[in-house]
Amino acid sequence: MQIQEHVELAERTTLGVGGRARYFVELKAEADVPAAVAWAEAHDLPVFVLGGGSNLLVSDHGFAGLVLHMAIGGIYDSCDSCESCESRELGEGVLEAGAGELWDDVVAAGVARGWAGIECLSGIPGLAGATPVQNVGAYGQEVASAITRVRAWDRAQSEWVELEAGACGFQYRSSRFNQMDRERFVITRVGFKLRPGGAAEIGYPELRRRFPDGAPALGAVREAVLDIRRGKAMLAGQVRSAGSFFKNPVLSAGEWANLAARVEGPIPQFAAGRAGIKVPAAWLIEQAGFSKGYRALAGGVGLSPQHALAIVNRDHARATAVVGLARRIQLAVDARFGIRLEPEPVQLGFHPGEEV
Ligand SMILES: Cc1cc2nc3c(=O)[nH]c(=O)nc-3n(C[C@H](O)[C@H](O)[C@H](O)COP(=O)(O)OP(=O)(O)OC[C@H]3O[C@@H](n4cnc5c(N)ncnc54)[C@H](O)[C@@H]3O)c2cc1C
Repeated sequence: MQIQEHVELAERTTLGVGGRARYFVELKAEADVPAAVAWAEAHDLPVFVLGGGSNLLVSDHGFAGLVLHMAIGGIYDSCDSCESCESRELGEGVLEAGAGELWDDVVAAGVARGWAGIECLSGIPGLAGATPVQNVGAYGQEVASAITRVRAWDRAQSEWVELEAGACGFQYRSSRFNQMDRERFVITRVGFKLRPGGAAEIGYPELRRRFPDGAPALGAVREAVLDIRRGKAMLAGQVRSAGSFFKNPVLSAGEWANLAARVEGPIPQFAAGRAGIKVPAAWLIEQAGFSKGYRALAGGVGLSPQHALAIVNRDHARATAVVGLARRIQLAVDARFGIRLEPEPVQLGFHPGEEV
């Protein structure tokens, strides 16, 4: 385990803004995790776990602590290939991934085995270990419905824990890992239970339209999802963004009535179960005057030409310019609709009051 100093973080994030990490370490084995955390504690430094940096806005000051970069790989579907968990019941439909594994490789592995459950999550950038953190979701699927357990180093108790899905507090784009237990757990492995021979999920309208006769193969659904995402520049490397910059607001009945009173004509919505009515943030943003391809007059920031929900670093942007545009969007949506948009990316290294 080698601790580096003054490491640039911008190039380790998909948005490509922000300063340096004071200290930085690559974690390649589980044994590195408690050792790195103990080093930070001994030096009285805060710790941040970095995956693929695809849901991250780093401040221009950088981070004055130790960044743990997750690099523990491996995709396992049987005990033969599993080094640290001989007692586990891995078998048909059960897949486990090291936290440092590319998430899309995990999806591809499930689809290649003919196991349904995560095919619609194809093409989401980042690493497997981050997927439980914000309960990633897309095209009608959420990773929470496939996760069985999360293995992590619990910094509060200084011990390894295996959290069953029910103990992870999964909700829309949230879990205990980004809510009440933020920064408490360093996730090293995630287990999934998929459905061998199961049907692909094509409930989402854009997918249903592509398969009007129903029952497509998992591989065809994966390709369709990748194709749809490519058309919206929502694959890694297409534009410098953190994907959706705002969460889709979930409105109570009262908030919905308030919105309906301000809008003439139909309002797009998604079902959000008992949680309420989910309204596409991209629609609110466009209606509030920020269209796809919007370019700020200064600062090198704008909106993706393909998706109004993605703030993009067009040209050597700084984090302050990203925050400035995000705040202007929030104000415009609030003024027009009375709805406060919540940012989705994690914000690192900002002083109080500087964040979105
Ligand atoms: C083009 C684009 C499209 C996207 N599309 C989607 C989408 O469709 N749906 C969706 O849900 N998200 C989407 N995202 C957001 C992002 O890809 C996901 O949130 C992803 O899971 C983040 O993974 P990461 O490894 O890059 O995490 P990072 O950005 O590195 O970290 C995100 C958070 O997770 C924490 N974290 C990361 N790894 C660990 C770990 N091992 N243990 C503990 N904490 C950890 C970090 O500390 C941080 O708080 C998109 C992003 C981009 C750039």
